[in-house]
Amino acid sequence: MSDQPASLHPQTLVLHGGSYRSDPATGAVAVPIYQTTSYQFQDTGHAERLFALDELGFIYSRVANPTTDAFETRIAAVEGGAAALALASGQAASAYSVLNVAGAGDNIVSSTDLYGGTWALFAATLKHFGVEVRFVDPADPENFRRATDARTRAYYAESLPNPKLEVFPIGEVAAIGRELGVPLIVDNTAAPLTIRPFEHGAAVVVYSATKYIGGHGTSIGGVIIDGGNFPWAEHADRFPTLTQPDPSYHGATWLEKAAPLGPVAYVLRARAVLLRDIGAAVAPQNVFQFIQGLETLPLRVRQHNENAIAVANFLKDRPEVSHVIFPAFQTGENARRAQAYLHGGYGALVGFELKGGKEAGRKFINALKLLYHVANIGDARSLAIHPATTTHSQLSEADQLLTGVTPGYVRLSVGIEYIDDIVNDLTQALEASGA
Ligand SMILES: *Cc1c(COP(=O)(O)O)cnc(C)c1O
Repeated sequence: MSDQPASLHPQTLVLHGGSYRSDPATGAVAVPIYQTTSYQFQDTGHAERLFALDELGFIYSRVANPTTDAFETRIAAVEGGAAALALASGQAASAYSVLNVAGAGDNIVSSTDLYGGTWALFAATLKHFGVEVRFVDPADPENFRRATDARTRAYYAESLPNPKLEVFPIGEVAAIGRELGVPLIVDNTAAPLTIRPFEHGAAVVVYSATKYIGGHGTSIGGVIIDGGNFPWAEHADRFPTLTQPDPSYHGATWLEKAAPLGPVAYVLRARAVLLRDIGAAVAPQNVFQFIQGLETLPLRVRQHNENAIAVANFLKDRPEVSHVIFPAFQTGENARRAQAYLHGGYGALVGFELKGGKEAGRKFINALKLLYHVANIGDARSLAIHPATTTHSQLSEADQLLTGVTPGYVRLSVGIEYIDDIVNDLTQALEASGA
């Protein structure tokens, strides 16, 4: 839980939000790396209360750690949520966010526009767990309603999915979910601070902290943030994991267990059951990097967003480029969604199509000198990738087109370098692409 007044701005909360003020043992201001597996109990009564979750404290670092706690309470405050759970990767965060409410025989309804790793998790691995994922086109929010039945446990979507970069209708789908008793989980990895899913009715936000939050390409991690805003008890039949007695906690329900702590049943259960049993615990060393990243996130996001607008405008006028994919350039309903959900910029991802197709894509990438050629986004450095020869190369050309990847498509994750240096590198690589 966050101890800070809700009135502080996110730019302040990244530095001051959450439970950590200074280290209780030493007064250290920077959050120390608590490189320990276990914690001395005061006496047997203390140990008993901790194990029963009647008192919150540290037992064993698989389930909770003071460094991680500082990060979790701070990012919950920044996002405007009630509590958070940090995990070993973004993949663990998306998997746990679903498995926390869905089991064998249940289903979730997901947007088709997903990160490749999430797509594989949903289309194949969750199926092996007996969880059905119903994929629907987010162009029409009503598709979510049509796919919902009594065993639907959640809606899932990415706020700003690439390669299409069409903003998800968060408010529209969250409203349908609230009508039917289904929480919306939003992966906001591509647009922290720029998109604020809880303000539009999302119930849960997940991040790959690997990307903008870490921000420097050093560490893999993820986080689940509980908005504390979903009325689980009103839809008790839909959420047995939260409303039915859990034998591993003396038959208490997670709603009852969480009640003294606030509206945090969802994320408390994810920690006390999924993290305890499946164990995708994040290393405190990595959490330290995420804390450093979070502290400057607003500054970096501002520069990323500003540079991306400049890069998109530059590309639009280039003779080698047939089409620039960027939320600012969309029309119709997609433009309305970009306007409604993006604030202070359009994110740092810019896609473009080279007239010369696949061969031009290869030449462009190979000519880059400043931009890195990597399968990542959200680094402070500018990054580029040619999906047709890398991330999407296993798909047939027809399937690539369905996901929005044309042969000449290049994705940029625009960094925070001096803008002229980025543009100069793009210029010489475009000239070398022969398009
Ligand atoms: C990278 C990414 C993930 C997965 O995160 P990892 O930290 O790599 O496990 C999930 N969603 C999106 C949108 C991503 O970009």
